[in-house]
Amino acid sequence: GAGVMVVAEWLLECSREFVARKDELDGLDRLLGDGDHGTNMVRGFAAAEDLDLSAQQHAAEALRQVGMALVQNVGGASGPLFGTFFLRAGAHWDPSLTTHGIAVAVREAMRGVQARGKATVGDKTMIDALAPASASLDASAAAGEDVAVALEKAAAAAEHGRDATVDMVAKKGRAALKADQSVGVVDPGAVSMALILRTAVRHIG
Ligand code: ADP
Ligand code: MG
Ligand code: MG
Repeated sequence: GAGVMVVAEWLLECSREFVARKDELDGLDRLLGDGDHGTNMVRGFAAAEDLDLSAQQHAAEALRQVGMALVQNVGGASGPLFGTFFLRAGAHWDPSLTTHGIAVAVREAMRGVQARGKATVGDKTMIDALAPASASLDASAAAGEDVAVALEKAAAAAEHGRDATVDMVAKKGRAALKADQSVGVVDPGAVSMALILRTAVRHIG
């Protein structure tokens, strides 16, 4: 149906966005980490594209493929964590693309990332972008808002959460090794998570 096309287009645009922003994300990761975050995201999405996302019959399968590609092709912390995000979103995807269905998929995806990475809100990670987006989607579903409105609010919430990582002390991942230098720097994984959700507005919303 139409659902697989919008999801495949969303994932392909994520891939293009990571190519365009690779150097910026590597640069951010150089400040507290090992400078490979943009490179990692590009490598994972390129591997997913090689599997031909737009040829998939089901949106859930396209999401699963991105998740597997990230887990299998990206070393380090972010591959398994972003991989888990897409694998879990795929496992809970409702092809009818309702606000409630998207809220459930994002909530379950976040639970998966947290089960794997043990990060909580305030640790200066991708969770600080994802958790406010998930809460916003839940509120939108409860209020009966349509998908376009809900995704726009969720992306804005993710961007607000991303920006809030600037003031946080890093408690997880490589950045935690430089915790004493971490205030004043945005978390690159939170930038990527916000980017993924902003891109969803253009394709699913
Ligand atoms: P690595 O640190 O292994 O080089 P990346 O540079 O690709 O991996 O990704 C770093 C990002 O991963 C961080 O900016 C942070 O958002 C995220 N991250 C690291 N550890 C965790 C964790 N335990 N839970 C959630 N996110 C994490
Ligand atoms: Mg890194
Ligand atoms: Mg690394």
